[in-house]
Amino acid sequence: MNQIENNVKKILAQIPDDVEIIAAAKSKTANDVLSAIEFGIKIVGENYVQESLKKIEKIGNKTKWHFIGHLQSNKVKYVVPVFDMIETVDSIKLAKIIDKISKRNEKIMPILIEINSGRESQKFGIFPENAEEFIREISLFQNIKIFGLMTMGPFAGDPEKARSYFIETKKIFDKISAKNIPNVEMKFLSMGMSNTYKIAIEEGANLVRIGTKIFGAR
Ligand SMILES: *Cc1c(COP(=O)(O)O)cnc(C)c1O
Repeated sequence: MNQIENNVKKILAQIPDDVEIIAAAKSKTANDVLSAIEFGIKIVGENYVQESLKKIEKIGNKTKWHFIGHLQSNKVKYVVPVFDMIETVDSIKLAKIIDKISKRNEKIMPILIEINSGRESQKFGIFPENAEEFIREISLFQNIKIFGLMTMGPFAGDPEKARSYFIETKKIFDKISAKNIPNVEMKFLSMGMSNTYKIAIEEGANLVRIGTKIFGAR
């Protein structure tokens, strides 16, 4: 059994049925990704546009593709046609461009809103207190559809330190869900990485983004 097979099977056996794994594949090869898909991965996450386009060209629709990196406006035109979801919408300007390019592609782009749950100035994302107003504003765009929230949480040595940030993001998720905002369907909560995904699932994540624990160190 190769390492990726071993890792994927182990993680799939651990997680509840209603949680989906995103294999975070930055810096990994198309063959690594194909291996993960072969053993049960259904969603692949990519951070970098150039890198991902090459892999998508080779692998195509054998998996769903989620964009999980910081997206620059001038790269949106490459991402919209080939990705199934953009998880990192963090500004009105970016949402507006995604909407425009999606219209041109006759597509309604599924997106998540990135929440800066640690309120760290060096991180991307909407601060928790601004989330509802932000979501109301971009819910008016016709060619994007909001399907939930994504958060990174602070990079901390101790995985337990991430828990409070996951709890806070889940609270926003529930609050927005309860408001029944038109064109907003709070279905996905994307939180947790290799060292924190178990905690994230305990706190309500139904998408977890796992790189190292599937593919090994980068
Ligand atoms: C790389 C990455 C991950 C996965 O990180 P690991 O610690 O390797 O599991 C998850 N989310 C995002 C946004 C990433 O860039």
